[in-house]
Amino acid sequence: MISFRNILENFKDMVFPVRCPVCDRPVYYYERKEGICSSCRKELPLIRHNRCYKCGRALDTGEKELCRDCRNKTGTHIYVRGLSLCTYNDLMRASIYRMKYQGRKEYAKAYGRMMAEQFGNAIKRAGIEGIIPVPLHPKREYERGYNQAALLARTLGKETGVKVYEDYVIRTCHTPPMKSLSTGERQNNLKKAFKIGRNDVKLGITIIIDDIYTTGSTIDAVAKVLIEAGVSRVYFISLAIGEDL
Ligand SMILES: [Zn+2]
Ligand SMILES: [Zn+2]
Repeated sequence: MISFRNILENFKDMVFPVRCPVCDRPVYYYERKEGICSSCRKELPLIRHNRCYKCGRALDTGEKELCRDCRNKTGTHIYVRGLSLCTYNDLMRASIYRMKYQGRKEYAKAYGRMMAEQFGNAIKRAGIEGIIPVPLHPKREYERGYNQAALLARTLGKETGVKVYEDYVIRTCHTPPMKSLSTGERQNNLKKAFKIGRNDVKLGITIIIDDIYTTGSTIDAVAKVLIEAGVSRVYFISLAIGEDL
């Protein structure tokens, strides 16, 4: 039966096709829910086994417990543990670039669903009470029209039934693009970049969501603010994480 809703959906498909995060072509109607071509799904560098016990980075063998980066930073991270969906390879670099800078916000739905598929059980086991996306500076969010971390968090929250708090942590001052700064400057800058946005809810165990994990300094800066606000444990999930070098 053709309903008004169906007509609307078809119209929406013609005007705003859902594009696959891997090949960027509109996905077939029957793949709309997943938001990714079933053939392209196989191309994703999913991290399934041999993860770093701390940051979740893919390790080349199952013999090591920690990646090189975490071995060098033992005891310095504020978060407890983290997981990432994919390794940040060329494919993910291009996909995340389109998601952030070319308006492909629908990618976040496909990725958020996959995060829920892979990590839904871990989230339940950890007893997560709130999902906190890494906030974007309001000016940058206004320019872009959305915060990709918040979009990932919304889908993850919807799929797992865990509440998302988008304004729990907010970005304070305008931070210059991180690329132009040294590691020390980066960390100093980040320390001042976040603060608690609301204090009407007390959260115990939370998970921070971000698109890319590089050194973990952003996650730690947000985690620090959360711990200072009384949160007991902070985990993180990121869409992609660098290789173990
Ligand atoms: Zn595709
Ligand atoms: Zn690690």
